[in-house]
Amino acid sequence: MRTENIETVGEQIEQQEVNIVAFASQASSAKPVVKKLAPEMRKRKINFASQPTLYKRVLWRLKEDSQFQRSAIQLAFVLLCIWIGVEFYMFMQWGMTGGQEAFFERPPGVEGFLPISALMSVKHWMLSGVINNIHPSSIFILLAIIGASLALKKAFCSWLCPVGTLSEALWMLGKRIFKRDFTTPRWLDYPLRSLKYLLLFFFVNSIWQMDVFDLESFIYSPYNKVADIKMYLFFANISTFALWTIIILMVFSVFIKNFWCRFLCPYGALLGVFGWLSPLKITRNKSTCIDCELCTKACPSNIKVHKAGRVWSDECMSCMLCVESCPVKNTLDVRVTAKSTRAVPTWVYGTLVAGLFVAITGLAMLTGNWANGISKEEYRRRFQQLDNPVYQHFRGEVPQYGPND
Ligand code: SF4
Ligand code: SF4
Repeated sequence: MRTENIETVGEQIEQQEVNIVAFASQASSAKPVVKKLAPEMRKRKINFASQPTLYKRVLWRLKEDSQFQRSAIQLAFVLLCIWIGVEFYMFMQWGMTGGQEAFFERPPGVEGFLPISALMSVKHWMLSGVINNIHPSSIFILLAIIGASLALKKAFCSWLCPVGTLSEALWMLGKRIFKRDFTTPRWLDYPLRSLKYLLLFFFVNSIWQMDVFDLESFIYSPYNKVADIKMYLFFANISTFALWTIIILMVFSVFIKNFWCRFLCPYGALLGVFGWLSPLKITRNKSTCIDCELCTKACPSNIKVHKAGRVWSDECMSCMLCVESCPVKNTLDVRVTAKSTRAVPTWVYGTLVAGLFVAITGLAMLTGNWANGISKEEYRRRFQQLDNPVYQHFRGEVPQYGPND
């Protein structure tokens, strides 16, 4: 009985393959209409409402719906950043009032917003073997993000980064209002995309030329010790020019998908370089693809997915929008190699993105490299001296400082 069943299933699969080949050959002569897709070729429609309870429905969606999973992880990360922001605000209130307000510990997670300092700290660690105690968590946050890119392409940008989440919300808003996609023409797209690499080159080249002495001069400088405080004050007392720059970037982001991320973010450029090395890539099965171009239309990074065998582009953020939009079974998914017989389920992907981040930052906490070594008393003193010239920096140069600064 069991053997008969297996044979029947085998015949069905063969029949499906015949249908797929027939459909694919039709596709080469005329653009097929997705509606004409044979039922057995279509991706299974998932009926979440069939689950008996809300709890089971949510669990089911987390497993089966990559966009639901991505939104959940994005939301969790935004909430985490808001929590860090609130804690840092309380810490700042204590510091700026000279200790009048209640003391709140500075949240080490704020160092995730100091990527230049983190790059210097990582190089310093590599050259000296020492994890500095000024901004140690920045090192692990940067390594977690690079590690996630090496394994999973630029997944950090579309699954975790709060700026990426805001960018996505803005272009979705634009699409809802204007009911259309605005794209930059190819001749403009390439030069604009290279801007972020120029910015990255500028930072990496400056850090490349620094030896251990230079790096230590910066890392242990009064300026770097309060870099997070300066960043807060920059936004709290934002200049008209900076405010307008942010507003203009946000307006552009409504019209052009991920404007900041695609054209200007040097962090995104760095992750694009590491992500290029990742073995996990969006892979298209050319023999079953019907050239409907839905994947290309869905891609926020303007990648011609319907023409690629494997998506090698440094712009791919592993958002899975193309995979989700493909109507044909087993045609577009994430694979380790083009010949891999098994696709990586998208829930594994999302779990890995968040898991790697939690594991590496958790390692920093377990090894005592999360909180910095600046005491409450030292912070109290530095808050009172913030107007002193040693806390300024001029075009990347930190001023001379003495042993008591
Ligand atoms: S190729 Fe797919 S996964 Fe990559 S950015 Fe485009 S839509 Fe997202
Ligand atoms: S891979 Fe792209 S073009 Fe091919 S069937 Fe899927 S959505 Fe259509």
